[in-house]
Amino acid sequence: MEKGALWRSALGEIELSISKAQFGTWFKNTYILSCEEKTVTIGVPNGFAKEWLENKFNLIVLRALNKHLVSIREIRCTVVPNQEKPEKKEVQGIDAIKAPQKNTTPPKNNGFIRKDITLSPTYSHTGVSSSLNSRYTFESFIVGENNNLAHSACYAISQNPGSLYNPLFIYGGVGLGKTHLLQSIGNALTAQDSNKKVFYTTTEKFTQELIGAIKSNSMENFKRVYQSIDLLIIDDVQFLSGKEKTQHEFFNIFNTLYQLDKQIVISSDRPPKSIATLEDRLKSRFEGGMIADISRPNLETRTAILRAKLLEKETILPEETIQYIAENISHNIRELEGALNRIVALSEIQNVSPNLEFAQNTLSDLLHSGKKKVITQAEIIKTICEHFNLSQEDIQKKGRKKEIAHPRQIAMFFLRDEIGLSYTGIGRIFGGRDHTTALHAFEKISKEIEKNTSLKEEIAFLKEKIYEF
Ligand code: ADP
Ligand code: MG
Repeated sequence: MEKGALWRSALGEIELSISKAQFGTWFKNTYILSCEEKTVTIGVPNGFAKEWLENKFNLIVLRALNKHLVSIREIRCTVVPNQEKPEKKEVQGIDAIKAPQKNTTPPKNNGFIRKDITLSPTYSHTGVSSSLNSRYTFESFIVGENNNLAHSACYAISQNPGSLYNPLFIYGGVGLGKTHLLQSIGNALTAQDSNKKVFYTTTEKFTQELIGAIKSNSMENFKRVYQSIDLLIIDDVQFLSGKEKTQHEFFNIFNTLYQLDKQIVISSDRPPKSIATLEDRLKSRFEGGMIADISRPNLETRTAILRAKLLEKETILPEETIQYIAENISHNIRELEGALNRIVALSEIQNVSPNLEFAQNTLSDLLHSGKKKVITQAEIIKTICEHFNLSQEDIQKKGRKKEIAHPRQIAMFFLRDEIGLSYTGIGRIFGGRDHTTALHAFEKISKEIEKNTSLKEEIAFLKEKIYEF
């Protein structure tokens, strides 16, 4: 079997046994360099990937290769930096088997005018690294299978910023530890070297400061401050969606830092491709680095987190109480921590033992309010509109615009699936459409979910958002 075909088949097997994020991260730009009788040498883009392929994924890779070539006993990896990669024809990695990517649109000149003006007073006082919370460290972060990949990537970057994966993009639901991990990188870096300039900001704060700088004619300074940073951390980048001017400026800052080999770390509640109206060139920049996801922790990890938080507080709780909290709060670590704090505080104030019964009583409101939530038609429509960056009028009025058809069908699907509205009722909500349109939408989405995993993920994500409302 020819090298390229062998690796393509092996990648097909590997893809089935690990998560999508892991596959994308570790196997992107890999290919077989040589194949001897017992040893296969794989070209990887950097030392980080080499370590993961040789250690963590060694068996999986070996097994996948053995399906086609039983003689292989050993995997070796050799780092081949990007620029030395063989000609495109010979690159038989993931990129070669992926569907061709959409062409990125050429950068638009949106009329932005550069001005050289004095420092904005608010900005000049923004000391770098001042916004890091010292509580968020790697030491206080519990690693589980849900965040393993994101954690190792963040840790590796804190040891070697700018040279491994740039940018690093971490995504996951609310309260799952994104901010904690991102800030841990900053805290670790400044602990090693106090001269390093670390800057943490949220996308909202970045946008506000940018608007402030434009208004006070201090854009040059705004840019200068950003350009002097060693590590830029931008949290919750999903809020960039739809803000053209902010995206444009962000792209410029991003490019400058990137070219200077400065590290950029970004977080979002969803992967880049699902951020509606994010400029294609930003999407492809984000996708060009490393993407790691954080999912919900399993019971074991939740218990470990509770124990760690108790240790931090120097408090003890009975085992049954810890188990009860861990078993009942599974969606969000912030809520898990909140429940723990509530039990500890109330039992101290009331001077009663925090036993199982006390925990059950204390948490009963919290658990019932969360689980038995009744959602409304308005919440569904609003969530879908926000996600796809559409106005309610856009989605509800009669019109045949193609880009609205998909979000509208999803909204129809949820109205039927989650609150059981009649097809006639759904048709009425969407500009007096016929009930068959609603029926068609529901059936189409239901069927597609079975075959299309990215749609399935999107629907699960949106459902979570609707219930978070
Ligand atoms: P996000 O930014 O994803 O919404 P945060 O980073 O704010 O979530 O995390 C919410 C809370 O949960 C924080 O107090 C954080 O310290 C805690 N937390 C999240 N994940 C972990 C973890 N793996 N180990 C310890 N604490 C965690
Ligand atoms: Mg956060």
